Amino acid sequence: MSSESQTNSMSDSPIVQCTEVVRTYTRGGTGSLFSRQSGTSVTAVDAVSMAVQRGELVGLAGPSGSGKSTLLHLLAALETPDTGNVAITGMNTSLMGERGRTAIRRDHVGIVFQRFHLLPSLTALQNVALPMIEQGSGKRERRRRAQSLLEDVGLGDRLSHRPAALSGGEQQRVAVARALGGDPDLVIADEPTGELDSTASEAVLDLLADVAADHAVVVASHDPMAIDRMDRVLRLRDGRLTDG
Ligand code: ADP
Repeated sequence: MSSESQTNSMSDSPIVQCTEVVRTYTRGGTGSLFSRQSGTSVTAVDAVSMAVQRGELVGLAGPSGSGKSTLLHLLAALETPDTGNVAITGMNTSLMGERGRTAIRRDHVGIVFQRFHLLPSLTALQNVALPMIEQGSGKRERRRRAQSLLEDVGLGDRLSHRPAALSGGEQQRVAVARALGGDPDLVIADEPTGELDSTASEAVLDLLADVAADHAVVVASHDPMAIDRMDRVLRLRDGRLTDG
């Protein structure tokens, strides 16, 4: 079993592991039109166990509503399961309060969203540098690291561009650079190619494959092109993992 004392044995202990996690949402009012259950409660993730090691690019596939985003949020410690455990680098986030989970996310998790979520008034460099304030690094160090990350994602010539002056693919690469700014162990991406054409998707998928060389990367997607690029694919249906 994972425990805090084992966090240094990176080679064989998973970066993220969940055990029998269940997450149920309760809908208020009469909004049960698209619920698969007769009541107001939907089990979005139903007894899922999985683990991802450093060096792996793992896909979460499944139709819309199958629980991909909910499972990603549990893995990223954005939410806690009703039952079951989620451990990031051996630390059980299910037992932590909001403050503990915030610290785990800051120190161990980078998140990439479908719609990039860049701040429109900031340059690429400023967008990447901004979350580093939480790590407590100085301004000069933040700029140096942000520039280096943007060079790594092939945007060394776009440092001063604002998001509106960048293509969708470039914005998503800025978002990947930003996700790496806290030097995470785990990178989570929710439909990272959902807004992109196939050429830009390829570039972002190449980048995520590079990132997976020394991180654990989990990508939720129903884009067949993205799923095709994964080292391993876990398929969800009605909140449960299926075999094929
Ligand atoms: P996917 O990412 O595969 O589309 P989700 O994890 O978003 O699936 O959703 C799984 C199920 O949980 C769906 O039935 C969805 O409607 C429900 N769900 C997700 N988030 C919420 C929420 N915040 N409140 C109520 N129901 C939710």
